Amino acid sequence: MSNYEAVIGMEVHAELLTDSKMFCSCRNEFGGEPNTRCCPVCLGMPGSLPVMNRKAVEHVIRTAIALNCVINPNAKFDRKNYFYPDLPKGYQISEYDNPIGESGWIEIDINGVTSKVRIRRVHLEEDTGKLSHVIGDESEVDYNRSGVPLMEIVTEFPPDMHSAEEAYAYVTALRSILTYIGVSDGKMEEGSMRCEPNLSVRPVGYEGFGVKTEIKNLNSFRAVLKGAQYEIDRQIRILQSGGTIIQETRGWNDARQETFSQRSKEGEQEYRYFPEPDLVPLDITQEWIDEIRKTMPELPRAMRERFVSQYGIPEYDAGVLTQARSVALFFEQTATLCGDPKAASNWIMGDFARLLNMEGIEIHQSKVTPTHLAEMIKLISQDVISGKMAKELFEEMYETGADPRELAKLMGPQISDESSLGAILDEVISSQRDVWDALIAGDEKKFGYMVGQIMKVSKGKANPQQVNRLLRERVQSS
Ligand code: ADP
Ligand code: ZN
Ligand code: MG
Repeated sequence: MSNYEAVIGMEVHAELLTDSKMFCSCRNEFGGEPNTRCCPVCLGMPGSLPVMNRKAVEHVIRTAIALNCVINPNAKFDRKNYFYPDLPKGYQISEYDNPIGESGWIEIDINGVTSKVRIRRVHLEEDTGKLSHVIGDESEVDYNRSGVPLMEIVTEFPPDMHSAEEAYAYVTALRSILTYIGVSDGKMEEGSMRCEPNLSVRPVGYEGFGVKTEIKNLNSFRAVLKGAQYEIDRQIRILQSGGTIIQETRGWNDARQETFSQRSKEGEQEYRYFPEPDLVPLDITQEWIDEIRKTMPELPRAMRERFVSQYGIPEYDAGVLTQARSVALFFEQTATLCGDPKAASNWIMGDFARLLNMEGIEIHQSKVTPTHLAEMIKLISQDVISGKMAKELFEEMYETGADPRELAKLMGPQISDESSLGAILDEVISSQRDVWDALIAGDEKKFGYMVGQIMKVSKGKANPQQVNRLLRERVQSS
């Protein structure tokens, strides 16, 4: 659309899956009555001391491994000082100049083309409390989130991403990795994963960088895509009309689908970072790293490639199926049990995904098991039930978790014999006289309609191939 190119870096915050908070034993769980999961440590009371959560450190090491980072054996914590009501201590414990992971990368795909997005750092910090219910000039603060272990992942400079689609592909791929390795639940709607694109534009061919803006706290992939695109267009529009970009943080208004100014960087404060005196530096030994590496699951891309070569399913299917590990595992078990990987893929990506979506649950929470889905697929290939019956049977199985073989018995067998089908044909032809006359007069569009009526009268039990053949014979001999 123009002779400008976008330049995009990304900061992602992910809350870590641990039982307790980063520096105290309060529960780390989303929600709860406000201010019921707090103690002197996460409320920043004078005299309280932090105790490091080993699991959280392990999660960040695990992430650093998955993101191909170099791991700092002596990563340390620092204090980032600032005042805000959601930060009772007056500082956040974070990692400044010695993060756990550095210089990593992941791969993303756009239209079948793979590229690398380099990662500058992965560090560990603590989340703040949550301000809400701003009524007039009143606010409420909930410290349940205060001190929850939080990981920050920042992409490298100069940035590798140049379009909103790439930004979207990056956050999607990253979420997949984080959930696969079990360090975060990736629930964007609960704020467990928050994305902040940093974005500037420059004339194509120009080697320098334009002034950047940062979009804060995007909590859906769609917002990343839409927000980044909006911001690219906005900046280009300003430059084309001779204006200048102000360095600022911007928010995303989802209802209006536009970004808005929050604060300019002029007022950016000095954080007066210094090493956290209450915590010793980490001592990340090679043995520790190796131990964590041993428990690493197969990552999404590797799994995707394996699915294509091992099961012969299309790239597209493999990509969809490996986005979430629970789906990938479900597919793999079903495919192995039924011996028809493409059928397994079709059911999981189709009817199954639709029902799960409607109910808003994950595949492993469903009553359908890989064994049952595989059984059902076998019933179709053995001609015990038709594809149409299977759709109905699947819904029933989804609702109740019943064994498909039992359900198939209740539904009765598929109708394939010519005399029963002939009787149904007669019935439909006489009740649909006009349609039938039009069909034999040459109106081919009516053929599908007649097949549909026959299927309906048979309650979905007629064998569709047989129905097609018999109806065709009738038409030809009429
Ligand atoms: P800040 O301190 O303002 O958060 P950082 O230097 O930490 O900025 O960079 C944050 C992200 O922004 C990184 O991913 C970085 O690569 C990216 N970035 C830095 N400068 C620019 C720029 N001019 N345009 C686009 N992205 C940028
Ligand atoms: Zn606490
Ligand atoms: Mg920033």
